[in-house]
Amino acid sequence: MHYEGTTYRPPPEADSLLLQVTVGCAHNRCTFCNMYRDVPFRRISMEQIEEDLKEARGIFPKAERIFLVNGDAFVLKAKMLGKIAEKIKFHFPECQTVTMYASIQNIGSKSDQELMDLKRVGINDLYVGIESGWDEVLTRIQKGHTVSEAKQQLGRLSRAGINHIANIMLGVAGRGNGVENAALTAQFLNETSPGLIWVGTLGIFEGTELHAETARGSFVPATEIEILEEEKALIRNMELEGVAFYGIHPTNTVPIRGALPRDKQKMLDKIDKAIRHYGKVALERPFQRVSL
Ligand code: SF4
Repeated sequence: MHYEGTTYRPPPEADSLLLQVTVGCAHNRCTFCNMYRDVPFRRISMEQIEEDLKEARGIFPKAERIFLVNGDAFVLKAKMLGKIAEKIKFHFPECQTVTMYASIQNIGSKSDQELMDLKRVGINDLYVGIESGWDEVLTRIQKGHTVSEAKQQLGRLSRAGINHIANIMLGVAGRGNGVENAALTAQFLNETSPGLIWVGTLGIFEGTELHAETARGSFVPATEIEILEEEKALIRNMELEGVAFYGIHPTNTVPIRGALPRDKQKMLDKIDKAIRHYGKVALERPFQRVSL
């Protein structure tokens, strides 16, 4: 198998076969992200993809779920994604779902018909970097979409029958803004009905624009207690039925997981317990994260 650059996949895809179809991230501008700074974006050839699928078949007797690597693999044209899905069906007939990271811009570049065709060939459960439901924050982090664009594109995705997983980032609004960010983000999630909510926490990584902003004082990171209060406000404000909340990410101080609304109180209690355990004094400062 060929893997170029660092390979990232979401924690829920730990058991999926990873197939590289792009290198890097076509956007590569989010101010907090250092994942693909060192690798220019490019597409992998169909020849290499097919070679990898043949090799993978010899290693994995069965792969019911395949995750396409890397940062925003849904950037590929619908025609190319359709061809990849066909090859997957040929080599792994048992594969039920082909999934990957997708941006709002990637969805917007496909027609309604193309989205429906992609769903038909097994593409589903796209991991979409939402981060926040607050326009001011999205502009500052250079996410490349607005709240209303995200609502529109996720609506199109859902009408085509494709589920999405909303990636949310705690702490992204900076000091003093966590609870407001949580309220706006919860409102966004309530309106866009993700299949799963995946929550991570902002880190200030060297080499990123956010690191420079923090050094200049134009961005002040939230304290850890604010981040935990933000997570509580997010959980409290969500009015979704039967949606999984997956707050297990290496950047999170307290691993939280449950189904909404059933486990709402249980998750809130777990965060409160952690706050009591660490003590408010220890949490009154920003924690340094090592990597995404
Ligand atoms: S957060 Fe995602 S979209 Fe933004 S630069 Fe990083 S990989 Fe690309």
